[in-house]
Amino acid sequence: MNEAILKVKDLNAYYNSVCALKGINFHANVDEIVGIVGPNGAGKTTLLESIAGTHKIREGEIYFLDHRIEHWPVLKRRKLGLMLIPQEGNVFPMMSIKKNLEVSVLYSSREEREKLLDYVYELFPVLWTKRKNNANTLSGGQQKMLAIGIGIAANPRVMLIDEPSIGLAPKLVTRLFDTLKKIKEDSGNTIVLSEQNIKILNIADRLFGLEAGEIKFDEKTENLSRQVIKDLYLGG
Ligand code: ATP
Repeated sequence: MNEAILKVKDLNAYYNSVCALKGINFHANVDEIVGIVGPNGAGKTTLLESIAGTHKIREGEIYFLDHRIEHWPVLKRRKLGLMLIPQEGNVFPMMSIKKNLEVSVLYSSREEREKLLDYVYELFPVLWTKRKNNANTLSGGQQKMLAIGIGIAANPRVMLIDEPSIGLAPKLVTRLFDTLKKIKEDSGNTIVLSEQNIKILNIADRLFGLEAGEIKFDEKTENLSRQVIKDLYLGG
């Protein structure tokens, strides 16, 4: 379906006097995985944080589900269904895995909560096995699963994920990406993820290329030359 659920218009973002994003126009459709690719420092994290509200933009407009949201606080955006999974920091390390997930379902109705938790445990059975343990007892890969699980448990319409493959062994990257595809197919929701891993080409419907804070392309993955994208934008 070609219906934009998220739109960014003429966005500029700065860190003091350093311009990190220049005139960005971006959109994500319903039922789509959009990859944001680009080298280190391209502005991928800043774009995701600007959309989620954790980075204050200087100019531009952001629309989500027909609301204009660029001045909304993070929590209001989250309640409407926009959830950022940062590279680090959305897991409470000294809390049990179960509690971490339970906090995330709090904005859903009582009937939905159990279904969401069951779904996360079905996707990541290790989280069920270890549910009573503190999150800091999980391996790096398992913590990443918990971070994504926390995102899913919040039942967002759009999940923004910042470089989920970082620090994961190649096999785990493949499994994680397969899981993201399944989540999209099961829910019909939208996933926007920044990546530098070549495997993004296997799951993204569309790719958005960023370089030095500017858009270089916005194209369906099938129309892009894999080799060019790999050489210019992706690492491993
Ligand atoms: P990476 O893949 O390395 O995470 P990225 O594509 O996510 O890179 P950003 O982290 O968004 O890029 O950074 C965009 C630009 O903003 C870079 O030039 C970076 O140096 C600069 N930048 C990022 N965070 C800060 C900060 N806290 N203070 C100053 N400049 C920053």
